[in-house]
Amino acid sequence: MTIKAYGAHAADKPLESLDITRRAPGAHDVQIAIAYCGVCHSDLHQVRSEWAGTLYPCVPGHEIVGRVTAVGAHVPGHKVGDLVGVGCIVDSCRHCADCGEGLENYCDHMVGTYNGPTQDAPGHTLGGYSQQIVVHERYVLRIRHPEPQLAAAAPLLCAGITTWSPLRHWKVGPGHRVGVVGIGGLGHMGIKLAHAMGAHVVAFTTSESKREAARALGAHEVVVSRNAGEMKAHARSLDFILNTVAAPHDLDAFFALLKRDGTMALVGAPATPHPSPNVFNLIMKRRSLAGSMIGGIPETQEMLDFCAEHGIVADIETIRADQINTAYERMLKGDVKYRFVIDCASLADRP
Ligand code: NAP
Ligand code: ZN
Ligand code: ZN
Repeated sequence: MTIKAYGAHAADKPLESLDITRRAPGAHDVQIAIAYCGVCHSDLHQVRSEWAGTLYPCVPGHEIVGRVTAVGAHVPGHKVGDLVGVGCIVDSCRHCADCGEGLENYCDHMVGTYNGPTQDAPGHTLGGYSQQIVVHERYVLRIRHPEPQLAAAAPLLCAGITTWSPLRHWKVGPGHRVGVVGIGGLGHMGIKLAHAMGAHVVAFTTSESKREAARALGAHEVVVSRNAGEMKAHARSLDFILNTVAAPHDLDAFFALLKRDGTMALVGAPATPHPSPNVFNLIMKRRSLAGSMIGGIPETQEMLDFCAEHGIVADIETIRADQINTAYERMLKGDVKYRFVIDCASLADRP
């Protein structure tokens, strides 16, 4: 089936309207009419080939929500009309140890929602800036939020799970003091989720203008990280730091804020490396530097259900598909509170 999408033909070209094809649903497939798709900073990194290996045409988008329009003969878990989501993963090997533990995100054969290998045309996966997608049932999530919250639930499929997974893995909860660095799409979800898990949350931002807003998101304290005095006041005070910053920066400034045995997990994936940290900052207090990538399918469902139960969604600004290039420029300037979400109905407006 031919559908409308938005994507780029080259790293230095703006995104534009494209026609793409989707396969007919197979026995285990779910066909979804996409209602909304969130705009992740990874979309920008990928479409501009800031990470190696972008294939063109590139249609980004891995924060997908919509309604089921057809299911294959062997899809017991979803039916036509259901509200569903698709995140960053559309396939994996399904039999390795990682897949067996529901950590498909760490499978060596994980297929990303865009730029991954597929037999479908054009030979690589095309993402959610489009009208429709066909996905194997294993990678389709149930959305239990009420329909009016559907657009704001979309960013949970990446920003939500990418912050949920490390917060859960490092057992963040009551009694923990948690830092969240960078208040963008991921960071604002990190604040909301760490707060809901019962931790004391300290938000770190480079933007003075986000100080009050961060409190409204659930931060108990807010630090403007450019201010050395404010940073020093939090020395050796945190058990865990979730660092979501999309650009290279001085990690040592944040190690100094960890208690003995504290961990900083990086989820931000800048195009160029951070300056090398001073190992003495790790050695002297037995601190750890870690990383985390999105999350597995079962924990994504767990996160979505937790968020539906607790009324948690992203703070969003809805845009039309033809506003995506402007949205990227605003994202680079930190001018988004806190996630753009494309209204995919706008794709139909093109003649
Ligand atoms: P975003 O909305 O653009 O937010 C990033 C935030 O980082 C900005 O709002 C800003 O916060 C801060 N920041 C940006 N440039 C900075 C700089 N030069 N110095 C200091 N702080 C800066 O991006 P996002 O969608 O949340 O994604 C964040 C990063 O995570 C990206 O690199 C993305 O590719 C990556 N990511 C990783 C995974 C994973 O699985 N690990 C999943 C999704 C995304 P303040 O204004 O508050 O300082
Ligand atoms: Zn993402
Ligand atoms: Zn696997």
